[in-house]
Amino acid sequence: MELTAAEIDAAAGAVLTVDLDAVVANYRLLTRMLGGRRCAAVVKADAYGLGAEPVARKLQAAGCRHFFVAHLTEALSLRPVLDKTNNIFVLNGLNPGSEIHAVRHNITPVLNSIEQLHAWRQQAMLSYRTLPAVLQLDTGMSRLGLSQSELDSLIASPHYLEGIDLQFVMSHLACADEPDHPANRMQLENFVSMRRHLPAIPASFANSAGIFLGSAYQADLGRPGIALYGAHPGANRSTPLSPAVKLEAKIVQLREIEAGAGVGYGHAFISSKATRLATISVGYADGWMRSLSGRGCAFLDDQPLPIVGRVSMDSMTLDVSMVPPSKLRPGALVELIGPHQSVDDIAAHAGTIGYEILTGLGTRYARRYRGIGSDEATARTPGAMERTEIAR
Ligand SMILES: *Cc1c(COP(=O)(O)O)cnc(C)c1O
Repeated sequence: MELTAAEIDAAAGAVLTVDLDAVVANYRLLTRMLGGRRCAAVVKADAYGLGAEPVARKLQAAGCRHFFVAHLTEALSLRPVLDKTNNIFVLNGLNPGSEIHAVRHNITPVLNSIEQLHAWRQQAMLSYRTLPAVLQLDTGMSRLGLSQSELDSLIASPHYLEGIDLQFVMSHLACADEPDHPANRMQLENFVSMRRHLPAIPASFANSAGIFLGSAYQADLGRPGIALYGAHPGANRSTPLSPAVKLEAKIVQLREIEAGAGVGYGHAFISSKATRLATISVGYADGWMRSLSGRGCAFLDDQPLPIVGRVSMDSMTLDVSMVPPSKLRPGALVELIGPHQSVDDIAAHAGTIGYEILTGLGTRYARRYRGIGSDEATARTPGAMERTEIAR
């Protein structure tokens, strides 16, 4: 059943607000840091949980022309959203046998291995045309891309790029979030030396953290993901990013417990005194990780409300003893991500990184998008719940 925006707002347990204007502000900041070099957008994993369709639409309107996803399925869903002249690159390359779908839908693979390169050349022959591609070199991450010896043997054979229109050579940094890590310099040196064997083709090297490493690392096309979404790639938070996500949960029930009462699964919290509790409608199935049990807070205005006991699948419990009862009622919203605590703060509490918090955001929220212009079509993304929009 298609739910209306009003039904979703009334029925959902929590509200996720995505600020597309903040995403654009971050895109502009990164473009300035790139000093005139081109800036792509990495919108894999549903734009890190924010919604690939509305995010890509918005960034396209802001001038972005290069979009990266990880899987061909993501590229195929994004294709109708973007102008056909704009590029969609598939970071993981193509599964054997899926090349024809990429050709039909004007998707550009990243070629990560000799096998992927041969399959794409084969496809070019079958299609009677030259096919675009990005070639990835492994400069020291040991994940994807041609090694030095594979590159050597490849370029030893003449016509090794026959049928392929190479648009970029790329590589990926393993330790860019640690600016002083010696692997950064080593990978850069490897990239420079490996590129010498290839024709003069524009290069792409830096993710968000790589862009922060400075111009030596930025190459011709930046490839930021996390920074677009307002979270920092590492412990260094000096780049002033605009937060793009707000998460507010609804209070389901209020109660008062006596000293000695156990709260939640396993009675992981036992009250030492009479306590007022609020149960809210967000749990680990919504991406609020179980490792946050008994850790961190929600906020009501400026008041921190400690999370007590275990995070359940669909709910968790807050100590609200310090808030006057008149300020609390079922249906009221408390802040989980917002001005009082960032995605990076939550990640620190949970012992993980902002990437995992964002990409884990659930599908049960009422989603509101700020900054969807009237000229842009209504954004809809498949999910358990239809997403809703509100005007700024
Ligand atoms: C995910 C990814 C990016 C984006 O990285 P961020 O750290 O989110 O900026 C860039 N390049 C590759 C190859 C990736 O896999």
